[in-house]
Amino acid sequence: MNLNKKDNLRTLHTPSPVGEGRGEAFSRRNFIRTVGIVGVAGLSGIETVFAASKKGKNSSGKGLQLRFIPYELQLRHTFTIASNSRKTTPDVLTCIEFEGMTGYGEASMPPYLGESIETASKFLSSLNLGQFKDPFQMEDILRYADSVMPGNCAAKAAVDIALHDLVGKIMGQPWYKIWGFDPDDAPNTSFTIGIDNPEVVKQKVTEAAPYKMLKVKLGQKTDREMIETIRSVTNVPICVDVNQGWTDKQMALDMIHWLKEKGVVFVEQPMPKTAIDDMAWLTENSPLPTMGDESVQRLPDVIKAKGVYSGINIKLMKCTGMREAHEMLVLAKSLDLKVMIGCMTETSCAVSAAAQLSPKADWADLDGNLLISNDPYSGMKIVDGKVTLIDQPGIGIGSMQKIF
Ligand SMILES: [Mg+2]
Repeated sequence: MNLNKKDNLRTLHTPSPVGEGRGEAFSRRNFIRTVGIVGVAGLSGIETVFAASKKGKNSSGKGLQLRFIPYELQLRHTFTIASNSRKTTPDVLTCIEFEGMTGYGEASMPPYLGESIETASKFLSSLNLGQFKDPFQMEDILRYADSVMPGNCAAKAAVDIALHDLVGKIMGQPWYKIWGFDPDDAPNTSFTIGIDNPEVVKQKVTEAAPYKMLKVKLGQKTDREMIETIRSVTNVPICVDVNQGWTDKQMALDMIHWLKEKGVVFVEQPMPKTAIDDMAWLTENSPLPTMGDESVQRLPDVIKAKGVYSGINIKLMKCTGMREAHEMLVLAKSLDLKVMIGCMTETSCAVSAAAQLSPKADWADLDGNLLISNDPYSGMKIVDGKVTLIDQPGIGIGSMQKIF
């Protein structure tokens, strides 16, 4: 797999020393000048790119070394949800090096969430991880990264994932083992079917034959048609994601009763995240579990979800990464909330990181790598529809050498 060879933004970056560049207005021009443009000739892949970036290594040579490159994910199908439609997803790949070992991370940034290559580059450029000489001080390192700027959750996740991968590799263990999870407990994953016309939906469902559950995007006038179309070609269980698309609670309840008859298992984010009272009423009366996604971003949101939803959808790109996702999982379980582990469209890097948590999830929606056509990593596999964790250290992604 090659990096996007058309993209002259095949860029490399070594973070600035402390203070450098802070407070400067960040423009695209500034970004390109700062990180440089690397010619395509002679580059064969990520390993080469990261290797080349060592030229700019921090002179201390002892602390953590963070690098990143922009990378545009190409989607296999135009992806349509209740609020928008797109063919690509902006992404930034990261790595953290320490004493000859490398951990890999990623920030996937669907535009509607407000992050971009520019914002992630600005955030990552502002970090000085070189001040940390011990990668095991994850609490301090990640608390520092979280404190540098508000927001930037996906960019923070890119640091968090790379650090977890690095530390897992140093320990020689995958994170599901470090956390004490049994990989046999990992659930089936759903495969997402975006909103589309009936013929395309049937094609997507046919492609999804290996999966034991389908996740169907609803929230438009064609909701019943979408479900009927899918039911005309398969009887596998369905979960639906409305992406805040229903605004009337009685209509939502009627739809959920109808969906239950159609073999739907749960309903994700049926109403706007601000409709808290209506959502609590809906959950109380719903014959199916309701799951909060857009409503539940970070740890404090888990407590707010109790009594409003039946459960929560944890995504690394929303919650700043594996550390906080693990805290959210533990807290949600203690509150008797259902948990699903979800993802954005992203590479096998972030999907494999999220999969480390999946043995303790009720449901998994870890198909983001399967929805793109230019995944530069290998990692967690779906075998017979089930999340299948690999007994490899860190987040369990394959060696870069195997990719190229
Ligand atoms: Mg969702």
